[in-house]
Amino acid sequence: MHRLNNFSNLTSEGVAQVTGAYGTPVYVYDESLILERCRECTEMPQAYGLVVRYAMKANSNRRLLKIITGAGLHLDASSLNEVIRANLAGVPYDRIMLTTQEVYSDDMRAKLEELLLSGLRYNACSLYQLQLISDFAADNSIDVGIRIHPGIGSGESATRNTGDDYSCFGIHLSDLPAAHKYAADKGLTFKHIHVHIGSGADTKMWRQNIDLLLKIIEDHFPDADTVCFGGGLKEARMPGEYAADVPLLGSYAKMQVEDFYRRTGRKLKMEIEPGTYIVANSGYAVTSLIDKKRTSRSNFIITDGGMEINSRPLLYGSKHPVYIVSGDGARVISSEFDDAKHDFEAVVAGKCCESGDCQTLDMDGHAVPRAMVEPQIGDFVVIGGVGAYCSSMSPYNYNSHPQAPEVLLTKKGTLTEIRKRQTLEQMLANEV
Ligand SMILES: *Cc1c(COP(=O)(O)O)cnc(C)c1O
Repeated sequence: MHRLNNFSNLTSEGVAQVTGAYGTPVYVYDESLILERCRECTEMPQAYGLVVRYAMKANSNRRLLKIITGAGLHLDASSLNEVIRANLAGVPYDRIMLTTQEVYSDDMRAKLEELLLSGLRYNACSLYQLQLISDFAADNSIDVGIRIHPGIGSGESATRNTGDDYSCFGIHLSDLPAAHKYAADKGLTFKHIHVHIGSGADTKMWRQNIDLLLKIIEDHFPDADTVCFGGGLKEARMPGEYAADVPLLGSYAKMQVEDFYRRTGRKLKMEIEPGTYIVANSGYAVTSLIDKKRTSRSNFIITDGGMEINSRPLLYGSKHPVYIVSGDGARVISSEFDDAKHDFEAVVAGKCCESGDCQTLDMDGHAVPRAMVEPQIGDFVVIGGVGAYCSSMSPYNYNSHPQAPEVLLTKKGTLTEIRKRQTLEQMLANEV
């Protein structure tokens, strides 16, 4: 057995088995690792109750939603369609919180009302959303949550900072008086107070976020019973990167929530909303090495799955580990997690007509060669850390490439297809 790295259950033999059955490119998810991450979050230290909501936009495959909610997590949905999708996966509405940029009218509005009456939770993310929902909420005694825009945030890149004044998520602190006036006029109270400061947030900022939100609740929300600190727990994808220390963050939150109780006599329930942290490292994109080229600058290895499988390097300059597996699946030729001599350097490129279609880009979009053991055409190139915001966010169908299939490596060690490869007919089905 040749595992790709010391935290994965995927082996070189498994890679050959998956590709033999489902072709390339293909996503593979490691169920055991997902369950381990779920457990880590649900068991984090807490004071007066904890709900962990998986942010399903990270990866909304039905089977993964079943696994994650089966492990005790609730869901954070970012659109009404996500809510419906989650319910189709068997998740009851009262375990789903809708935190969205959408504004509903006509059919969608009717659907929202129907689902709210069925238990869906709703987080008002703008004054306008609050105005639109307040009569209905007051008439039906539905508690509306409020997403606060704290004016400070943190993310792995500017595009993933959702809390600072360059982004527009939530009701800004300066608009709180207006929100309160509005709620008071309608007889609404805010019980669920929420922030989400960004993706891959710096741990220090995450702690500041806890302090800041508790202070906001103390000053402005006398009726609050639940505090949601959002998602953004950082995952380490590359060797040498560090991940959020979930138990340590939990201990800090617990201490501050207990301190809040001592100051105010109020016991707040706590929520967190990890997306990335639950699924990122469970995912692998398995591709075939189809060509090799060189320029006067670099070697390039060309794979049959690139930006349409994982657009994060192109969007954010994100780094993902690269593994090479021999075409017969007998061994892992190259892994950035081992100490083998990596005496070849190459840019990992995809097959789209786009110079940015590379898995090894820097923040400025330049292709940067990665050290590895030299692979041959016919070997497999496996990209790690692609469980979150890859399948769910990919620009598939660019260059008319079909959406790739998804396969689950179950905790029993079997491989099951959980989404089929898209066909050309499906790609063209809606053209008239
Ligand atoms: C996207 C999102 C999250 C999850 O962020 P991660 O960085 O994937 O943990 C949590 N809460 C809300 C409201 C979000 O939009």
